[in-house]
Amino acid sequence: MGKTETRSTCCYCGTGCGVLIASEDGRITGVRGDPEHPANFGRLCSKGLNLAASAVSDSGRALYPEMRLTRDAPRQRVAWDSALDSVAESFARIIQQHGPDAVAFYVSGQLLTEDYYLFNKLAKGVVGSNNIDTNSRLCMSSAVTAYKKAFGADGPPTCYADLEQADCVLFAGSNLAYAHPVLLRRLEDARAARPDTRWIVIDPRRTDTAAMADLHLQIQPGTDVALFNGMLHHLIWEGLVAEDYINAHTEGFAELKQMVRNTTPKMAAEICGIREEDLIQAAEWFGHSPASLSLYCMGLNQSSHGTDKNLALINLHLATGQLGKPGAGPFSLTGQPNAMGGREVGGMATMLAAHRDIDNAEHRAQVAAHWGVPFERLSATPGLPAIAMFEALQQGRIKAIWIACSNPAHSLPNLPQVRAALAQAELVVVQDAFAHTDTTALADILLPAATWGEKEGTVTNSERRISRVRAAVQPPGEAQSDGWIVSQIARRLEALLHPGAASLFGNTAIASVFDEHRGLTSGRDLDISGLDYALLDKAGPQQWPLPAGAVQGQARRYVDGVFATANGRARFHALRYQPPAENVSAHYPFRLLTGRLRDQWHGMSRTGRLPQLFAHRPEPALEMHPDDAERRGLQAGDLLRISSKRGQLVLPLALSRELPGGTVFAAMHWNGQFLNSGGINETSQPQVDGQSFQPELKHAAVKVEKI
Ligand code: SF4
Repeated sequence: MGKTETRSTCCYCGTGCGVLIASEDGRITGVRGDPEHPANFGRLCSKGLNLAASAVSDSGRALYPEMRLTRDAPRQRVAWDSALDSVAESFARIIQQHGPDAVAFYVSGQLLTEDYYLFNKLAKGVVGSNNIDTNSRLCMSSAVTAYKKAFGADGPPTCYADLEQADCVLFAGSNLAYAHPVLLRRLEDARAARPDTRWIVIDPRRTDTAAMADLHLQIQPGTDVALFNGMLHHLIWEGLVAEDYINAHTEGFAELKQMVRNTTPKMAAEICGIREEDLIQAAEWFGHSPASLSLYCMGLNQSSHGTDKNLALINLHLATGQLGKPGAGPFSLTGQPNAMGGREVGGMATMLAAHRDIDNAEHRAQVAAHWGVPFERLSATPGLPAIAMFEALQQGRIKAIWIACSNPAHSLPNLPQVRAALAQAELVVVQDAFAHTDTTALADILLPAATWGEKEGTVTNSERRISRVRAAVQPPGEAQSDGWIVSQIARRLEALLHPGAASLFGNTAIASVFDEHRGLTSGRDLDISGLDYALLDKAGPQQWPLPAGAVQGQARRYVDGVFATANGRARFHALRYQPPAENVSAHYPFRLLTGRLRDQWHGMSRTGRLPQLFAHRPEPALEMHPDDAERRGLQAGDLLRISSKRGQLVLPLALSRELPGGTVFAAMHWNGQFLNSGGINETSQPQVDGQSFQPELKHAAVKVEKI
């Protein structure tokens, strides 16, 4: 086979860095940054740099299909045909007995767009249910609902080139230094070239990103809306708003102005627990800068008021006209490599393909016609989003679930309830590249999947840029690509549910699946009808929209001030601050915050296999301010039981001056392989945002006891 270098994309975060994979004789031997990729220009962070090391060993991989006949029996290796037949027959039987909504699909922002498309078509076009949701619900759904409410369509209006052109960068709930390190390097370079650039970081913790800021607003957890309203009050009454932009391109400003009249900077600063002069300074920098850019992430989204937080920040941009021009705009940063692609194909319970709506009969008719299925097949009833899906599983309303490329027994809130739901299910199918996750431990059927470096497709990064993902080697054992597995089961299910009908999965060559997907985008806001694999191969990664006839994608949206709403105007939203869902009490006196570590990824299925990625943080810990620890007679290293109303876990104490008093912090990554529990989500709470259905993973009330 000899030596080969394959151009692909990193499988971790939504930065979407290009990589070049070196392989020899069927093994991956090295990975370097792709100097031609416009996201990273050759740079990689510690996770990307260790991709080759993570790919060399088959240890821990799911290598063969496995099944168990009864719940108390161990799974046994079986032939692919037996596993595929069994999934299809069980799903068909349950659907025929209880209806299409008795089954569910829980997929992942780490699937490739083509895999996502096939899963979505299976659920909505074959089964006839919208019960397909994804771990992207835990990631970006509040950003989606806010974009749609404010601009009329999903998707960020900005691009990475804005990082170099911004004069003021506002980080809101984003520890960029850990979550998107390559983007931080781009910002550092930009600030070195233009030292007058201002960085404002809003975060309850003094993170590594906050430590680099010109101004750190260390707000009380969850008080972002009060902060943004207070800043807007100052901008309005100091004459820093863009009246011409507001009059020409927006609606709803008068109501918002009336609402924030009483939210003075003084009052807002008191709610947030910061100095009034710091709030005013932030507003002044934001309002006076020629170009202000906001970067935001889970600190805004993972909240019971996540949509409001996003909208309150967007209000600042609309009021100052900081949008649709170089270096300016609200920029949501996707956590996962393909949370964007999943939204594009409509692979969620609350949307249809190409940003269409489930409750819109015309949209359903368009999708049904594209797929060649009867209009009635597409359900008009929204499916159950992630949290409600697992509640329905526990209650027996959903009887079978197929989980792909995700580890909900670690990543969902309230893990005791999630485990109870999976134990209650008639059938749990798990499709994963890794054999030993908290969720595979509960699987009745395990379908071994190919992973990064072994499969083909595309992903879309945070700036709407679509990149190719390419296979450099064959998957180990009998593992197969996600698209192959879905198609095989879909064909069997079609034959059982719709005998005699033409298959929707006749041509599943990966380029054909992409063509089918882009055909559905024609005429939509994310139109990529002009983009195919040949153009991606020739011209490299492209941003959407890229309609037929265009030679390249569009860097920024709304540059003409015309938005995707019915009347073309962006909408302000008058929002009042509301506290987090669960307040502290005498029984549960600490606010628990969660977040990422620099060198680990999600549930550590991949990064947890590499000793070198433990050098930064070798072991799990609960972080607490030294003053809080001293008051309780605690010392670093003490073993602590952390309890909430839902569950508990044990972690050693680490002291940290990054935290304000009264809060504790735990990283989200540590799982059942490292702890005698599923991780910090044993304690987190499942309250969701009423509009986005995203859970408040970043805030819970807990107590801490030495054991
Ligand atoms: Fe991969 Fe994200 Fe690191 Fe880039 S910044 S190398 S995409 S983990």
